[in-house]
Amino acid sequence: MYNQTLLMMPGPVPMAESVRGAMLNQAINHRSKQLGDCYSDIVRILQPVFGTKNEILVLSGSGTAGQEAAIGSFAKGKKVASLVNGKFGERLGLISQIYGETTMIESEWGHALNLEALAESLENGAEVVTLVHNETSAAILNPAEEVGKLCKKHDALFILDGITSIGGDVVKADEWGVDVAIVGSQKCLAAPAGLAAVSVSEKAWERLSENRPFYLDLKKAKKSADASPKETPTTPAVPLFMAMREACRLIEEEGIENRIARHRKLSAAVREAGKVWGLAPVPQVDALHAASNTVTGFFYPEGIEDSQIRGFCKKMGIEFAGGQDRFKGKIFRVGNMGIIDTPEILATVATIQLAFKKAGFKLGGDGLEAAAEILSA
Ligand SMILES: *Cc1c(COP(=O)(O)O)cnc(C)c1O
Repeated sequence: MYNQTLLMMPGPVPMAESVRGAMLNQAINHRSKQLGDCYSDIVRILQPVFGTKNEILVLSGSGTAGQEAAIGSFAKGKKVASLVNGKFGERLGLISQIYGETTMIESEWGHALNLEALAESLENGAEVVTLVHNETSAAILNPAEEVGKLCKKHDALFILDGITSIGGDVVKADEWGVDVAIVGSQKCLAAPAGLAAVSVSEKAWERLSENRPFYLDLKKAKKSADASPKETPTTPAVPLFMAMREACRLIEEEGIENRIARHRKLSAAVREAGKVWGLAPVPQVDALHAASNTVTGFFYPEGIEDSQIRGFCKKMGIEFAGGQDRFKGKIFRVGNMGIIDTPEILATVATIQLAFKKAGFKLGGDGLEAAAEILSA
């Protein structure tokens, strides 16, 4: 990739050439069959990726716009229980505090969620539950299915941030009882940043909040999307819609099962490298919580600075993420989302290994070889 940094971030991610090319067209009238067909294609392809038969609405705005649209449209004025074990769970909680009467059920970042406290909160009348499926900040995969069961039992609405799981890992929104699922364009879908897609169940539509936000009102989005050809209430980010359709077409071409298998293999290789190096993983896994299959995080060992590892890799043209907030300077996170594949993982693992060597730190073993073992299987 001439004159480009290899982005191994948990979003944004590298985009296929055809996805980039899809943004080059002349402006079009967005109230047109051209835009409507594009929107329809995105919805048709994303439905099985979300694991839903429900309507999917595409919004111009990043993942957080999807979060706020979901909460502002369905949790406004309601009792909300927000599960938090990382930065993005916290963000859902903070948005919920603006719109509803919210209890944050907090765990240490990267640790198990407190499902007993959730059950208690539901007994006490919580009407809406928010959860991040793949908590990117702590590289942990949370038990969406279990939370869905609790929501069903108490007839609560379930809002799921699937921003870094949808398109890269298994999501079964309908089977798990998810009422509102959210994805962002620049993560596993490998589309440009700036769009969010939100699926909405019948149950959620029946419980629409009153006095919803203006710009992020999902009822308005639905009314426009119900038109034929499909429309959006206000001018959409047309070039991004075009690129998103192409990114979705590539997902369809690869097949979602193959895509998930690829993400799992790549993340397994990074996890194994870290294990051989002797680095402590960020997520604390148990029977219900697993390490993420789309981003892998490790703690830096004592005496190693973030700049020594990420700084060196960046100099070599490979960029991945550090820690956010309380994890700043303490962890690093390697994404394997979207169209990332074996060569990129090998290059990244090799360069990280070299960075530790340059920093004078003796790792436990050859993580590169361990990763290659998995990748070549
Ligand atoms: C990236 C991310 C978001 C926020 O998305 P933006 O596109 O930055 O608004 C929300 N949730 C999760 C889990 C994410 O990884």
